Amino acid sequence: MRILITGGAGFLGSHLTERLIREGHYVIIMDNLITGKTGNITHLDHSKFKFINYNVTDYLFVDGKVDFILHFASPASPIDYLQHPIHTLKVGSIGTHKTLGLALEKSAKYLLASTSEVYGDPLENPQQEKYWGNVNTIGPRGVYDEAKRFSEALTMAYHRTHGLDTRIIRIFNTYGPRMRLNDGRVVPAFIWQALRKEPLTVFGDGRQTRSFCYVDDLIEGIHRLMLTDYHEPVNLGNPTELTVMDFARAVLKEIGYELKIENHPLPVDDPKVRRPDITLAKKLLGWEPQIDLAEGLRRTIDWMRQEMNLTPPI
Ligand code: UDP
Repeated sequence: MRILITGGAGFLGSHLTERLIREGHYVIIMDNLITGKTGNITHLDHSKFKFINYNVTDYLFVDGKVDFILHFASPASPIDYLQHPIHTLKVGSIGTHKTLGLALEKSAKYLLASTSEVYGDPLENPQQEKYWGNVNTIGPRGVYDEAKRFSEALTMAYHRTHGLDTRIIRIFNTYGPRMRLNDGRVVPAFIWQALRKEPLTVFGDGRQTRSFCYVDDLIEGIHRLMLTDYHEPVNLGNPTELTVMDFARAVLKEIGYELKIENHPLPVDDPKVRRPDITLAKKLLGWEPQIDLAEGLRRTIDWMRQEMNLTPPI
């Protein structure tokens, strides 16, 4: 297939591109490099992809046939969408509209990368796809949450109105190589601090929970969903839930030495719990994560160690 992926130079986009090339597809990567970087894709076989530095919210034109569109472009870490609130809203609204319109024009299949953030600060745990969420529309995270909720609504509208062959994944916290060292998310933050022997910065009392999925597991789930014709949202993530404090301890265990843990203020609207119910993904895709936290952390720590020697973050 000839596949267009927006955000293809980002963390997840670049891993997905790599997988699609391995499956024998040709990939058109569109990215404006706000949070992505070409360094994530330069190692790929250049005859198997092309890179277009472009804002997906602008008028969208792609030459030739396109069989599949994957819309992954968006700032995705809390500090990124706080720094780029308008871009975040635009890429999740106008960008979704443009890519859906292009899919219609090209008779392409479509997959939207949505997020567990559509559940906001959830009042149900674990979160099933049928839960409608608890989002503060005007809070600092609202720019991401509402953009993704709008994206889901628009994707379903294109499916129902135009019969577009769409899919929606709700991605829960995912980690692994190629996360930006300074993107502020808890996984690179703690590993970066631990490798520099600095105190780990736990926000709040650290009793809030998350469930961390290793990137290879997520990519496998996305690839399987691409091959189905299921149109409603599907949760993809690792259902092993732990507190942020326990996550800090897990990082220290893999690093192999003790460090101080400091408590910092909890960011506004930080969800208190988050854990995917993956019953649907198991049934539909025969999928569940294979890589446990210890193994995923070892791989990520090894990668970050190398990265830090090469390029210290700004
Ligand atoms: N967090 C933390 N210390 C950090 C960065 C994040 O304690 O240095 C916490 C954050 O408050 C949240 C959890 O870790 O409760 C996960 O944050 P992240 O930014 O990775 O993603 P989120 O799940 O909030 O989108």
